[in-house]
Amino acid sequence: MSKKEKNNKLMEDIISLCKRRGFIYQGSEIYGGLAGTWDYGPLGVAFKNNIKNLWWKKFVTDREDVYGVDAAILMNQNVWKATGHVGNFSDPLAECTKCKKRFREDQIEISNKDGFKHCPSCDGLLGPTKQFNMLFKTSVGAIESEESISYLRPETAQGMFVNYKNIIDSFHPKLPFGMAQIGKAFRNEIAPKDFIFRTREFEQMEIEYLIDPRKDWQVTFEHFRKEMIDFTKEVGLKSEHVSEHEIGDADRAFYSKRTIDFEFEFPFGTSELYGLAYRTDYDLGRHEKSSGIELKYLDEETKEKFTPHCIEPSFGVDRTVLAVLSDAYTEDELGGEKRIYLKFVPAVAPVKVAVFPLLKNKPQLIEKAQEVYKNLKKEFGNVMFDDNGNIGKRYRRQDEIGTPFCITIDFDTVEKDNSVTVRDRDTGKQERVEIAKLSEFLKKKLV
Ligand code: ATP
Repeated sequence: MSKKEKNNKLMEDIISLCKRRGFIYQGSEIYGGLAGTWDYGPLGVAFKNNIKNLWWKKFVTDREDVYGVDAAILMNQNVWKATGHVGNFSDPLAECTKCKKRFREDQIEISNKDGFKHCPSCDGLLGPTKQFNMLFKTSVGAIESEESISYLRPETAQGMFVNYKNIIDSFHPKLPFGMAQIGKAFRNEIAPKDFIFRTREFEQMEIEYLIDPRKDWQVTFEHFRKEMIDFTKEVGLKSEHVSEHEIGDADRAFYSKRTIDFEFEFPFGTSELYGLAYRTDYDLGRHEKSSGIELKYLDEETKEKFTPHCIEPSFGVDRTVLAVLSDAYTEDELGGEKRIYLKFVPAVAPVKVAVFPLLKNKPQLIEKAQEVYKNLKKEFGNVMFDDNGNIGKRYRRQDEIGTPFCITIDFDTVEKDNSVTVRDRDTGKQERVEIAKLSEFLKKKLV
């Protein structure tokens, strides 16, 4: 198999595992789906929440200088006029002159044969390029008019900038400080593709970190650059798959003085995972001008007033989910049998521990297993009970969803030593642990 075929197969295997085991389903599936939308199932939600919680802890709770925000998705249309999204948030669209399918023109290579761009689907010539605005427009209230227009937000960032004054008035923070938000964003992408990599509805985790423009912005930029790389390690991405791409002058937004894209080697190719941008005073400046409300900062010591500058680390939740899945997906042989398993770091694993009674039809084993299960569930939350099928099959089922530890209650447990067998997902190694010491044992391993 060529590398490309292998990678295509890996994507297919990941998508199929996600569906089979309740991580991610096609959106509106029973109606034939809705392009660019995906639904997270029970294990997917738990996995995604673990990623979001790690992020929130690292960038909000564990810091003293970042304020959490959860702004409304629908915002006054003037927000998006001020930022330029209404006029300019567009991608180049080209239609195939033969089959009429539409593509993002900048993602299609020029053909070596004739120097033109061709349709990836039927090889017809692509027609002229038009700019296509990606905002989802809607109407708010009972009367549709120019004034009722609103947009589903295309990024979470502006929900923070418009709350800058509120944060200042309620908390009186000193610069530098940040605002952080996790939430949905919507873009009417011309060509959603590659599973949850490019969708029309997705989640972002963003920080707008405000700094004093009279001071050195590069120190803060460097700080977040390192923190972003750290985060990729915390969720379990392999460092050899993460790289940084400095965006050159020609490709950077006109207001940005520096932008780095963090890229990941996805199975379909190396593509953007996160972005880090120095946005200067663009956003606050635009909102001040457009709303007529002063959005300046008063330096209490020098009595100087100025617009803070912003450094923005921007993370895609769903792209993190996909990157973690593709690095965790492992096929190996254990005990002479082929298996598929997700080598998740414990922090992101949707199920931390699974508890099994050795046999289903022995009440004393069931009772003890239930007791162990309930106690562990109280402590670790995401614990699963499974008494279905032989132990080997139950191990495989847990391996496939990335559960780090499986615990089996057997006859020795109830008749002899009050100990259980703990089995490690990656090595398959089993060891006996006393029930009284189980919680301590798992706590150490699950950090
Ligand atoms: P791309 O060039 O891939 O379209 P972008 O540069 O437009 O992405 P940003 O506007 O910087 O993306 O958004 C910040 C982050 O949000 C991205 O790094 C990515 O993780 C995520 N993101 C953006 N668009 C999508 C999408 N359509 N589907 C899923 N995640 C997305």
